[in-house]
Amino acid sequence: MGSVLSIREFAVMWLIVIFFVGMVAGWSAVLWAASLAEEARPAGIRWCRGCAAQLPVFSAVVSWAGHCSRCRARTSSGPWLAAVGTGCLFAFFTYLLEQGCQTVTEVRPALALWQARLPFHLLLLFLLVTAVAADLIDYVIPDQIIVPGTLAALLFSFASGDLQLIHIWVDWSDEMVQVYGPWLPQWMKDHQHLHGLAWSLCGAVTGASLVWAGRVAANRILGFPAIGFGDVTLMAMIGAFMGWQPVLCVLAVSPLAGIVLGLAVFVLTGRSFMAFGPCLAAGAVIVLCTWNAIWEQQGLRIIFGHWPTIAGLILSAFSLYCLLLLGVRLFRATPVSRLR
Ligand SMILES: [Zn+2]
Repeated sequence: MGSVLSIREFAVMWLIVIFFVGMVAGWSAVLWAASLAEEARPAGIRWCRGCAAQLPVFSAVVSWAGHCSRCRARTSSGPWLAAVGTGCLFAFFTYLLEQGCQTVTEVRPALALWQARLPFHLLLLFLLVTAVAADLIDYVIPDQIIVPGTLAALLFSFASGDLQLIHIWVDWSDEMVQVYGPWLPQWMKDHQHLHGLAWSLCGAVTGASLVWAGRVAANRILGFPAIGFGDVTLMAMIGAFMGWQPVLCVLAVSPLAGIVLGLAVFVLTGRSFMAFGPCLAAGAVIVLCTWNAIWEQQGLRIIFGHWPTIAGLILSAFSLYCLLLLGVRLFRATPVSRLR
């Protein structure tokens, strides 16, 4: 009987398997990103930094930091870092999901659909790693990643009908909520697959339109495109996987993630700027991993069921953002004019 694995041993084995799946995903993500974005700016993954010759695919996978066979320039260790990082991310997320990091009162899918949530969100993590890798290589997030990613999210949400972090509308503000639970629209229960498509589409539109508004405001106030169009499409994809309420949380968390990431980049490389895409991706990962803690806060979910409050919050956050942009503009304008 000694050969039967205990539940704990099985769980550890499962996480190790997920880790290796994540490593393969990380390699694939960087190779995909490199093949889309690197030719313009060789980074030693598929194109040599020294002579710009195309490197064989296996050199990126096999060598930690090898050399170009033509000019001896070093190849990048990025694919290995991405592989180990993605492996850890996949295993960590799987562990948290099993610990109930996304379990909320209102959403109780059947067990089979609960299990579909893991590959669904691992697919999102893979696409995020790819988008971030492309953004780091050449400051672009190619449509070849975002468009199929967004379509896949819409398709899977529609086909399963039960992949949502939270339903498209949940009203906790009723006085009878303690007796009957939150109010859910009846059509959601009657048309499960349509609801799947609706929450996914709603998330994509919310994410894209808010970042687009932020982009327009930055263009107007700063006079240069501080937020790329790639960030708009990236947020559409994140929204299609997560829905509109989590997307608002991602937008709220991303600036904080940006400060932490920006400081890390500054300390490690001395660069004082960084792309916005990785901040959005980090925000999405944080919300995916802490959704239970976010939503189960009584106050927050009441707000999400009351549209005037939500609209007011978005408007005030946007005004604050525009004020910040104005501050940045003044801050930038002063020293530059003095230098001239
Ligand atoms: Zn070379």
